[in-house]
Amino acid sequence: MTSIKPISLYDTPSIDEVRAAARFDPQVIRSLHSKLLRRFDPDDVALVGFPLGDQLRLHALEFYRRYDSAVDGATKLLLRTSAGMLIESVILRVESGRSTLCVSSQIGCAAACEFCASGKMGIARDLSADEIVDQVLQAGQLLVTEGRQLRNIVFMGMGEPFHNEENLFAALELLIAPEFFNHSPGKVLVSTVGVTDGMLRCAARFPAVNLALSLHSVRQRVRERLIPLAKKYPLDDLHRTIAEVNQLQATTTVMIEYLMLAGVNDGRADATDLIEWLDGLSVHVNLIPYNPITDAPHFVGSDRPTCRAFAQQLRTAGLKTTVRYSLGNDIAAGCGQLVRQENRMIARQTLVDDG
Ligand code: SAH
Repeated sequence: MTSIKPISLYDTPSIDEVRAAARFDPQVIRSLHSKLLRRFDPDDVALVGFPLGDQLRLHALEFYRRYDSAVDGATKLLLRTSAGMLIESVILRVESGRSTLCVSSQIGCAAACEFCASGKMGIARDLSADEIVDQVLQAGQLLVTEGRQLRNIVFMGMGEPFHNEENLFAALELLIAPEFFNHSPGKVLVSTVGVTDGMLRCAARFPAVNLALSLHSVRQRVRERLIPLAKKYPLDDLHRTIAEVNQLQATTTVMIEYLMLAGVNDGRADATDLIEWLDGLSVHVNLIPYNPITDAPHFVGSDRPTCRAFAQQLRTAGLKTTVRYSLGNDIAAGCGQLVRQENRMIARQTLVDDG
């Protein structure tokens, strides 16, 4: 007997072919998508009454394990690819019940930012669109069992989304399509190190999807030290890009992410330069407390009074400014260290097995 390759849940033409051959009503497929992707029913419940369910692949990733924060209600989900690599997604619960999911777009990251564990991983593989959206499906299914709603989806996990643009865009299509996840594009945010052409294409194709830029400094030399890719995408280009993105996006402002590093970018003069640089752009600033990582012992996060003073200076200048909560620090949910170690072991194991 030949084994049949399972059909992806998102491969509508192939599902439809099977459906037509088996002569069942197209409504059955619509109903399955609705139950799974919009109600986040458990798999077995969603499959009730669905003929040929065994031919479908509902999940591109296998649930591996979860880590729950003991202090703040964050959960890190570890999900495994068919090759055994681990992906992390982080669920951030808030009291209102409307939770945020932080998804990964790659395993590892080629951007190699000085302060980021994912960038130090040394390997990178693009996630497929199915793998990206399965993080949403699995997190949604988990949250529903708690009576919570998945409200925001942020591409702030591992990877540089615009280094995997084609799959990112395919995933965004699935997330916002009414017949699939039907998620509001205004509740999706893509964070980038500053890949200008990708940002422009994203804003043109998905004008309601929010963009965030990891700026971290408006001094070219400092920024290059923190983010090697800053050489390729200099500050002048970034400035022009944000202005163009503002033109393309009628309903949203660009988020400026600014990591607060003691003595590197957190002085009064840094804030003054930032205010000047942002003049005329439609943005809001999100200051990020630094999560220390072992690979970058030379960086220290700014202390609270410094963060507060920096935020106050920006607000006084009329900039909408928030300070990001850092959740899940006790489970390394901020920087992906845990997965990094496990993936290294798996990569080594694979080499041993192969050789
Ligand atoms: N590649 C994308 C998204 C991934 S990281 C980007 O660069 O935007 C999401 C955010 O976390 C970025 O703003 C990134 O600079 C920040 N970040 C990375 N390492 C961090 C750390 N150790 N502590 C705090 N924030 C960090």
